[in-house]
Amino acid sequence: MEAVTYVVHRFVMHGPFESLHRSHHRNAAAAFADKRPEPNDVFPAAFSLVVIAALWVGFNVSGFAWLVPLFVGVTVYGIVYTAIHDGVIHGRVAWMKRIDTHWTRSLTLAHRAHHQANNEPYGMLLPSLTMRNRSLPAQDVRSGSRASHVPVDQ
Ligand SMILES: [Zn+2]
Ligand SMILES: [Zn+2]
Repeated sequence: MEAVTYVVHRFVMHGPFESLHRSHHRNAAAAFADKRPEPNDVFPAAFSLVVIAALWVGFNVSGFAWLVPLFVGVTVYGIVYTAIHDGVIHGRVAWMKRIDTHWTRSLTLAHRAHHQANNEPYGMLLPSLTMRNRSLPAQDVRSGSRASHVPVDQ
């Protein structure tokens, strides 16, 4: 699922549907980020429709029962992703924002680098793997300069 996250985030959310995703980058960069729904929330809603449809097929169409365990796994990943990204990193759930472990701190730093540079890492739960492909030197990330491929307001 982390590979799916990478591809969807990089080539869909930072691709043809970037206007929706831009709301999240802009809001997350604000000093007092708005915790209310943002246009970017269309993505998890759309993903959940895909999961519901796949589970419906798995339960109701003969020969497709294998979809059930697959998409139960997708659901578990989605729950963990949402808790980490929205709850812990962006503090949309107050008590989750207080969770502070070595793992959550490294995920927060990696995701902050993505927000600042609009570049790697596009992954969420294993960002260190995608950080290996970074094309920007560290000082460019800190200064907030962007990769040339997609200019996005923050
Ligand atoms: Zn992004
Ligand atoms: Zn984010």
